[in-house]
Amino acid sequence: MALIVDMDKIVSLCKRRGFIFQSSEIYGGLGSAWDYGPLGVELKRNLKQAWWKSVVHERDDMLGLDASILMHPNTWKASGHTENFSDVLVDCKKCKKRFRQDHVGKTCPECGSKDFTEGRPFNLMLKTYLGAVEDESSITYLRPETAQGIFVNFQNCVDTSRKRLPFGIAQVGKSFRNEVTPGNFTFRTREFEQMEVEYFTRPDQAEQSHQKWIEDRFDWYLNLGLKKENLRRRVHADDELAHYAKGCTDIEYHFPFGWSELEGIANRADYDLQQHSKVSGKDLRYQDPVSQEKFFPYVIEPSGGVDRAALAFLVDAYHEEDVEGSTRVVLRLHKNLVPTQVAVLPLLKKNHEIVALAKNLRRDLQKSLTCVYDDTAAIGKLYRRQDEVGTFFCVTVDVQSLEDKQVTVRSRDTMKQERVSVDRLKDYLTEKFSNDF
Ligand code: ATP
Repeated sequence: MALIVDMDKIVSLCKRRGFIFQSSEIYGGLGSAWDYGPLGVELKRNLKQAWWKSVVHERDDMLGLDASILMHPNTWKASGHTENFSDVLVDCKKCKKRFRQDHVGKTCPECGSKDFTEGRPFNLMLKTYLGAVEDESSITYLRPETAQGIFVNFQNCVDTSRKRLPFGIAQVGKSFRNEVTPGNFTFRTREFEQMEVEYFTRPDQAEQSHQKWIEDRFDWYLNLGLKKENLRRRVHADDELAHYAKGCTDIEYHFPFGWSELEGIANRADYDLQQHSKVSGKDLRYQDPVSQEKFFPYVIEPSGGVDRAALAFLVDAYHEEDVEGSTRVVLRLHKNLVPTQVAVLPLLKKNHEIVALAKNLRRDLQKSLTCVYDDTAAIGKLYRRQDEVGTFFCVTVDVQSLEDKQVTVRSRDTMKQERVSVDRLKDYLTEKFSNDF
């Protein structure tokens, strides 16, 4: 059983080192909204890039899309969100706290009372008005999922790409939900990013495709370094499924606050395209180019959260170890996810030649690698600082480097050091990052 890290340590590291800050902190913060700092934004970009590479660029049956966050309100009528995208809320009659009915048992988690109000639905979509007049006709919503942007563009994508079934469309983008009980740091927020695929198949191939996507998505997390013992699949029971869904499996991660969903992979049958056809009046059936047969494809939907994935990777990577009597905190992020690949550190910041060589190396390396220069502390402290944020290699320039034209390359994970000639340094380092994970 892997050691579960304390969530406070992650939150504190994220703030201290510039991964994640509270939103609008100088005004006292906005509940459950978070800003990704200089290192957090790099981690997130790397994550999205690794996802895009895996689900779009490395496949020949996938297309990408970037649809608008604001959509025609009828979209949400068709998808069922206007009517059904609700959580059932109850209030504790004693302490007056409000909860999601499915999150409380029979007793109030705050005060232990068993006296609740009747449950009533609360729609999670964030409403806004478009244009200068705030009336019924100008109401629209911030999208609660990216998926519908894909469905409404199904025909556009088929027409312009000439793709034949099975094929899919991928999208990454912000979604918004007026969550009643946000929390657990970035796990549940009201504004978050999703990475979603809608994969269209013939109905009789949907089940096979569903199983394949579950495998592929599970392996993606493993290949990027999440520990196997912290990942599991959870098959939804029939009573958890939407009425149209044929099945859903969640990939769950063992967070410090318990096993929780990272990504859901659902077989949505032909519900979405059918609904959009009905409400828009446009025929969204797929026409087989050979038999001319027309039908609604089934859809497999792997739907994950960027923020939840980033949190899982941070938690999983966090390690504390004893090195010569002191604690080394090291973030063992996968090399494709690290915010900084290489740090160049001068051993003596008062020696102009050492500093000049180090800065030159940084300038050269940063054309192909993410690279920083730091001379603001003694070398031991600089190493610890880089370990704590996951920097994969440290390159140290010392007095001897000026004579033998070699520098020390130190690995984050093994702390082993190797002398590498300045001429070979760029090739040496880029090679370490170039092979696939
Ligand atoms: P939950 O049951 O946790 O509310 P869900 O089943 O409603 O999640 P989906 O609608 O399947 O979630 O959304 C797909 C993915 O989007 C989730 O697996 C998660 O990674 C991410 N996600 C959904 N809601 C949030 C949120 N409020 N904050 C952060 N990420 C979210």
